[in-house]
Amino acid sequence: MAESARVRFAPSPTGELHLGNVRTALFNWLFARHHNGSFILRIEDTDVARSSEEAERAILEGLRWLGIDWDEGPGKEGSLGPYHQSDRLAIYRSHATRLLDSGLAYHCYCSSERLEEMRREQRRRGRPPRYDRRCRALTDADREGYESEGTEPVIRFMTPRQGETSFRDLLRGEISFANDTLDDFVIMKSDGYPTYHLASVVDDHLMEVSHVLRADDWIPSSPRHVLLYRAFGWDPPHFVHLPLILDKAGGKLSKRQGDVSVADYKQNGYLPEALVNYLALLGWSPGDTQEILSAEDLIDRFTWDRISVSPAVFDLERLNWFNRWYIRHLPVDRMAHAVAPYLREAYGREEQSEDTAYSPAEWLKLLVDNVREEVDSLGQIPAHVAFAFIDELAYTGEAAEAMRAPAAGEVLAAFVDKVRSLEILDIAAANTVLQNLRALLKERRNLGAREVMFPIRAGLTGSVHGPNLAAVIALLGRDRCIRRVTQLQSSFSR
Ligand code: GLU
Repeated sequence: MAESARVRFAPSPTGELHLGNVRTALFNWLFARHHNGSFILRIEDTDVARSSEEAERAILEGLRWLGIDWDEGPGKEGSLGPYHQSDRLAIYRSHATRLLDSGLAYHCYCSSERLEEMRREQRRRGRPPRYDRRCRALTDADREGYESEGTEPVIRFMTPRQGETSFRDLLRGEISFANDTLDDFVIMKSDGYPTYHLASVVDDHLMEVSHVLRADDWIPSSPRHVLLYRAFGWDPPHFVHLPLILDKAGGKLSKRQGDVSVADYKQNGYLPEALVNYLALLGWSPGDTQEILSAEDLIDRFTWDRISVSPAVFDLERLNWFNRWYIRHLPVDRMAHAVAPYLREAYGREEQSEDTAYSPAEWLKLLVDNVREEVDSLGQIPAHVAFAFIDELAYTGEAAEAMRAPAAGEVLAAFVDKVRSLEILDIAAANTVLQNLRALLKERRNLGAREVMFPIRAGLTGSVHGPNLAAVIALLGRDRCIRRVTQLQSSFSR
């Protein structure tokens, strides 16, 4: 690409970070990284009543968690900032004044009552609601009259009445709108804040944005933006409108069908790698059948011409499939890091309660590595490893049955004997213990593998299912294995 790629993600901090917005952020980020360009994060907080710092924090946190880093934006002031629109009000005012001075915009003093009445009337006559341009024709005396009454005006753009305005979308080609449908739209509100249209155009120009990638529900705004670019004498950026994300029923993805915010997915134990991989394929394809793509792969392969124009359908099952894949395949230290908060929340800690053959970090890795095959999300992990965190286990159902099996007492006694004779009980030693026990009890009692393993597993974990038994033993460590079984023996022999 000859010119530099400068793109932006421009969220309004008015709510949670929605999956649709993240997909927009992700495509911009991939585009910037693919072209060695810049990714700008601009906070569009000009809707004072609806914007909040909390929402902004959630956006930044969500992006950071997903690994979508920005080159310019909050906390990374580049030379073309500031990056909060609320810190750029003087810039918008001076630009609005420029349009007023060149006769391309005008003050409008119409009250909200009048506008409401006008729209009602238009609806009644079956006409689309549009501003009737009354204030275009005000005299200086009219204006002075309003000013002396203290009426704060808005500023409207003087949209041409005739003709049409076109722009080129890189994916969809030329898109045209009849000017009379575009209305004399407001560019400055009476509270002195710019509207989205003005702020977005001024900022995209001053921040030297080369490509605007945003969801296709912004297409109707783009001709207005093009009119503004022309009015200022600027070249518009390239536009790429991204396909909407729909739910399976064909509606817009919304909370009614399930979780739509990144925070919810994080909370429920989805891995950022899985979300990034899945979202990248919602409306973009690498051009072959490869499904598992790391962030590096995506950066390497992401080009705008593989973005689709037809809507993408959100499929939770498919996202779950990616999540399971990443849970099973990510490096174990990465997984340990991701799982730790879930363990802390469930048990107040992510560490062993007493010495084992492992350092705390190694212990956690062993734990995670032995349980990850069994879960669909990180949130399920604590329940699978309760045995390692809780000493008072309940023995019910199959576990209680296994403990009452005729040979159980002898199996457990032999197990404790073997463990006692060891200094170090790591996973290799635990495997040897189990092998020896099986050989011994086969010879002595003709017991099968199941008859040996079940009571030990049940005794140590309170369940007859679960992670690899040698891992369970190593995770509990020598002293805890001995104590747990000894206590049990006394309670089951009573
Ligand atoms: N602030 C707008 C939003 O919330 C930005 C739209 C655009 O990218 O131009 O989506």
